Amino acid sequence: MKDRLLTPEFRVVVDHQRCTQCHRCITGCGWGTLSCNNGRIVADDFKCVACHYCVTHCPTGAIVVEEFPLAFKPHANWTVGLRKNAWRQAQSPGMLLTGMGNDQAYPIVFDHLVLDACQVTNPSIDPLREPMELRTYLGRKPNSLAFDSLGRLITPLEPQVKLETPIVFAAMSYGSISLNAQKALAMAAEECGILWNTGEGGLHKDLYPYGHCATVQCASGRFGVHSGYLNAAAVVEIKIGQGAKPGIGGHLPGEKVSVEVSETRMIPPGTDALSPAPHHDIYSIEDLRQLIYALKEATDYSKPVSVKIAAVHNVAAITAGMVYAGADIVYIDGFRGGTGAAPTIIRDHIGIPIELAIAAVDDRLRQEGIRSQASIIAAGSIRSSADVAKAIALGADAVAIGTGALLPLGCRVCQKCYTGNCSWGIATQRPELTRRLDPVLGAERVSNLIESWSLELKEILGALGLNAIESLRGSRERLRGVGLDNTTLEILGVKPAGR
Ligand code: SF4
Ligand code: SF4
Repeated sequence: MKDRLLTPEFRVVVDHQRCTQCHRCITGCGWGTLSCNNGRIVADDFKCVACHYCVTHCPTGAIVVEEFPLAFKPHANWTVGLRKNAWRQAQSPGMLLTGMGNDQAYPIVFDHLVLDACQVTNPSIDPLREPMELRTYLGRKPNSLAFDSLGRLITPLEPQVKLETPIVFAAMSYGSISLNAQKALAMAAEECGILWNTGEGGLHKDLYPYGHCATVQCASGRFGVHSGYLNAAAVVEIKIGQGAKPGIGGHLPGEKVSVEVSETRMIPPGTDALSPAPHHDIYSIEDLRQLIYALKEATDYSKPVSVKIAAVHNVAAITAGMVYAGADIVYIDGFRGGTGAAPTIIRDHIGIPIELAIAAVDDRLRQEGIRSQASIIAAGSIRSSADVAKAIALGADAVAIGTGALLPLGCRVCQKCYTGNCSWGIATQRPELTRRLDPVLGAERVSNLIESWSLELKEILGALGLNAIESLRGSRERLRGVGLDNTTLEILGVKPAGR
């Protein structure tokens, strides 16, 4: 192409000695990168996104995907990424879209926090020999408990949801991901005793049997919201914001709105599903309170109501308002949170890191004396069991994982979810791609990950001399900062290592 400004990002190299012409790579690639030309497999490097489907499925190991070997003159200000973005926009005007989380080199606070361990005076605990409790209850708790003369609890309890481990799956709608991907998450949630989240795409009829372990969302587009949907769930969630795109709405392009997606969302097939940036009935905390109580009323006060927001500058004050408005769970999504589709400029430059948000929110709720009135779910790039433990030590009750839950399904974080061509059958509605994701096998792999993280969490607790995750919650004394400045340490409420 004569007027091309961009070069490929990756190069596909085929070893023709090894290739047996099975053509699995041609049919496997959702982006149509590979084809056969005169009996040889050839690649259009411009189409390759490094999703690795061909590499993983080539039976003879004949394919290698490399970074395109192109040198750019170094410039600390005009980075290669900024130059490429300008070339892309010069070639085709519009906002640049992206998928998955913020990949900018902001400091990752979790990587500058270390946990404590018992030595000599307090004994550590061996989780192989002693019981360890990861069970977590989400919902509004009373400030104190009262018992009658027979020792029976007489304090009325608000509805609670039990998690076997303090991890839930982040909201990912049917439409943004395939039904098979959502099924895998629902089955894994049931298996692990945790929650999956419908996102704002409604609840597909096949997934009603998994309603008992689902959080259903009521978002600004109100897609698929009806009484049966609300009452099928374990938790009802009002989605105000998302970490990857705070302050803006959502857009599922018409081509992804298949007949089944349209039925679940209750919109005509083939039409764009546009979620407005604000809820058009929420302009104040009082309005939010009305919606929270409308949802409680609609579900006979039998389920906790969660409110999800993106972590932004005054997240602590906003969250306190949400709790006063009646939220039983506050879900805070940090700026590294994943997404199916977001403008790159928003994803990379708006919001704050989840670590700072957790500490600020936990502090504020404690100062106001309302910490027990709501559980905190923290999300926005929880990458390992260590991140889970650190988030809980900072003050979260549980964490939500999105990208982390898609990795076991094959996701390579290629960041091209918004194209709908995901070769792994995750972020796509193309039947020839979705059918290759086996929900049973997917659920098994996701469950394995959750089980592994839970085992690691027990080891971490044992090293800390604790036998219940509850004892770690908000226990910032068990964290130390390495290489963090004083202001960050102060916000986190964490001492520097060595003190
Ligand atoms: S999958 Fe491997 S063996 Fe099969 S055609 Fe492609 S490169 Fe050749
Ligand atoms: S879900 Fe698919 S398209 Fe999205 S990042 Fe993962 S592999 Fe790429």
